[in-house]
Amino acid sequence: MLAVSSKNDALPHTRVRRTSRLYRSPAWGVADQPDFLNAAVLLETALPPRELLDELLAIEREAGRDRSAEAVRWGPRVLDLDILLYGDRRIDEPGLRVPHPHLHERAFALVPLLEVWPEATIPGRGRAREALDALGAMAPIEVEALG
Ligand code: ATP
Ligand code: CA
Ligand code: CA
Repeated sequence: MLAVSSKNDALPHTRVRRTSRLYRSPAWGVADQPDFLNAAVLLETALPPRELLDELLAIEREAGRDRSAEAVRWGPRVLDLDILLYGDRRIDEPGLRVPHPHLHERAFALVPLLEVWPEATIPGRGRAREALDALGAMAPIEVEALG
């Protein structure tokens, strides 16, 4: 996400509309690794979803992400760019699911998303704000804003 926001021309046919702060949250999945840093970017793009994904995967590679070296899923990685939402679209294709299938259950994604898009709706599930509230009722939310 930093790569996207710091280089306005990183994505073709795309404008960065809003960039969230950076949030730190405890690593999960594989516990013995550094904290995760998360941010969200609101984009206005003429790229269809699949082309946007391909561009994001290319930015991950340029940042040095090497999937072949990622033996452990959810282990440490340089950069992970996910499409959380694409307007109000619902997409379920091999290799591309929108809304991101775990968005509604991840405070570390919902918190920065709401910063750049407070009115966001997760198609098929309802308001992102309500999804975050529902999480807060179940578990402490350990997402810390930096700066
Ligand atoms: P998680 O789904 O738990 O966030 P991840 O981001 O760690 O998993 P990756 O290894 O980065 O998983 O990505 C695996 C594949 O997920 C990508 O190659 C991509 O094709 C696919 N994918 C499906 N839907 C999306 C989406 N909305 N955004 C990004 N990648 C997606
Ligand atoms: Ca991810
Ligand atoms: Ca990913």
